[in-house]
Amino acid sequence: MSAWRPRHNEYTPSRPTVTQIAGSDAPTPFPRPRAGLASPPVRSAPERRELLRAVYEEARGCTRCPLHQTRTTVVFGAGNADADLMFIGEAPGANEDRMGLPFVGQAGKLLDKLLGEISMDRKDVWICNVLRCRPPDNRDPHPNEIESCQDYLWRSVDLIEPTVICTLGNFSTKLLRADSTGISRLHGHEEVRIIGPRAVRLYPLYHPAAALYTPSTLEALRADFHRIPDLLALGAPEQPRSLEPVPEIEDAPDESDSAEMEFGEAEPAAQLGLF
Ligand code: URA
Repeated sequence: MSAWRPRHNEYTPSRPTVTQIAGSDAPTPFPRPRAGLASPPVRSAPERRELLRAVYEEARGCTRCPLHQTRTTVVFGAGNADADLMFIGEAPGANEDRMGLPFVGQAGKLLDKLLGEISMDRKDVWICNVLRCRPPDNRDPHPNEIESCQDYLWRSVDLIEPTVICTLGNFSTKLLRADSTGISRLHGHEEVRIIGPRAVRLYPLYHPAAALYTPSTLEALRADFHRIPDLLALGAPEQPRSLEPVPEIEDAPDESDSAEMEFGEAEPAAQLGLF
């Protein structure tokens, strides 16, 4: 994306997709654990990567919104399909549209630099956007585009299973929090949220493009960024129980099918071949 500019027609999601479970007095937002309810599905990293690849194949031919008419390439996302840390930006810009990869311009270079400062790089994380196609002239995403595209995002989160999600800027922060509070109030404040069947640590950050030209924003982004390792060290938050009933007690997986065993045996976290 080229020059960042203030947003005037900011998108406010019409229906909630996530639920706050920490830092709130609200009633328990997910079903209390009880007999007959199962946890979110346990899938090995290679299984999840293959399923993510299938979502990518589907997105490549997407015609759900008018942006398919003007895009060059679908920018699905890139990085480690089994990453603990996920970044969600706004939308591809001209460079991303040409190359098919997220954050390859100046904002991406800053993101790389900040990752380096916390001893990480792109192969450790998953990077994607609210939109998978470039809005013409880098205009703001339209609500119908966000609505059409968000399913790819929720499916990616479900399959990658990140423990920390950094939203970059207003659009992704508002979408993931299902709330119109702006990034200048929220940046650097982590909270546990339910996204799909899973609880994650949501950590809003300023968009790197906003930090390119404003030293005080860069300073805040850098300070917030440097807290990411501490959030990752906390591990996954306590997970909700899904509403999926366990079919039959004798069908329940035995000990050898446990997540630990599967992940222990899985090949090392690999990048999706195409990314
Ligand atoms: N590049 C992206 O991929 N996303 C943004 O939000 C900005 C630049």
